[in-house]
Amino acid sequence: MTEDAQNDFIEGLAAGIDACPTPFHVVDRAAAALEAVGFAQMNEADSWPDAAGSRFVRRGGSLVAWRHRSCDQGFRIIGAHTDSPNLRVTPQPDTGAARYRQLGVEVYGGVLLNSWLDRDLGVAGRVATPSGPRLFCIDRAVLRVPQLAIHLDRDVNQNGLLLNPQTHLTPVWGLGLRTPGEFAAVAAEAAGVRAEEVLAWDAMLHDLAPPAIGGIDGEFLFAPRIDNQVSCWAGLQALIDAPADAIPSAVLCLFDHEEVGSTSAQGASSTLLPTVLERIAGGREALHPALARSLCASADGAHATHPNYPERHEPDHPIALGEGPVIKRNANLRYATDAVGEAAFAAACERAGVGHQVYVHRSDMPCGSTIGPFAAATTGVTTVDVGIPQLSMHSAREMCGVHDPLDLALALSAFLSAAA
Ligand code: ZN
Repeated sequence: MTEDAQNDFIEGLAAGIDACPTPFHVVDRAAAALEAVGFAQMNEADSWPDAAGSRFVRRGGSLVAWRHRSCDQGFRIIGAHTDSPNLRVTPQPDTGAARYRQLGVEVYGGVLLNSWLDRDLGVAGRVATPSGPRLFCIDRAVLRVPQLAIHLDRDVNQNGLLLNPQTHLTPVWGLGLRTPGEFAAVAAEAAGVRAEEVLAWDAMLHDLAPPAIGGIDGEFLFAPRIDNQVSCWAGLQALIDAPADAIPSAVLCLFDHEEVGSTSAQGASSTLLPTVLERIAGGREALHPALARSLCASADGAHATHPNYPERHEPDHPIALGEGPVIKRNANLRYATDAVGEAAFAAACERAGVGHQVYVHRSDMPCGSTIGPFAAATTGVTTVDVGIPQLSMHSAREMCGVHDPLDLALALSAFLSAAA
């Protein structure tokens, strides 16, 4: 891959992450990118006389897109998730204390709470209106969670920082007394609707610092939401690069709600993927033989070995930035990968000309999970959990290797074209 192609990919990735502070923005941007190259949007509420061709469908913060001509060799499915851990605005958020106007928030997912302190924060999401949901994004530093001064917390560096999510994370966003209805009015203006049209919202905070190439030789990417927008944008590129009449049929599913367990109307354990596959196949009779010939690669962030905490990692499975995508194994199936899936993805990496690494969590620490086991359980398809290595997972600002996102896209591209 040329240096130009590498730079173009990282530029596009950084622009995508920066423009998408919420799952709704991810789906919106992915839909626009798909439409720009000829994918047609389908509506789940309509009947689909023919799902062949290049199509996609949206359900909330989730999206499934495909290139399909025939089910003869089944599907090659790429999965990823659109959500990231963050702070979410409560239903009655206008609060305050000590003559500050503040915004009530709830913690979403496994947040590294300290990483949200002393950052310039914007707020984005969607408002529900009588004419349907409307996206909004405020990219100004309207919010901040100020950390307590060390003079008022003398033992913090000895005892560690303890944060109560109810009382210590409420951001300030103005001076004076709480103003009921203020957040609704601000969100309405940002969404381009009247305040009385705002019936409810799904709103969340985001760090405003844009992605940056880092390291003395430019070997890192520092950015928010690397977990898991890198996988979303790499998967999208792989699908767009697949031939229009791809055989096996190429499918990309981007799921919301992974960070809270995937159990929702549009999460990875929902009906979304199985029903869309059934409709693509043209019915149950065609679906089941197709599923038996299918493979799924579920892409999500992987833990690189941390240089300051090597003892937290399984010593015989070191993971390095820049050494290729990671295949994740777990004997207790927190990752869906089995030997067949591992072999299929390793072969795809080889065809793509990129390396690969294999991750195992330490046996004396509980292992995280991802969408792979859910996709495997709802479809019965052999699934391999993969992803780029990264540090600072679930921080408001994460880091990965600068070459790893494109290597993942190339490996996923090769995976899509593999016959069973
Ligand atoms: Zn993730």
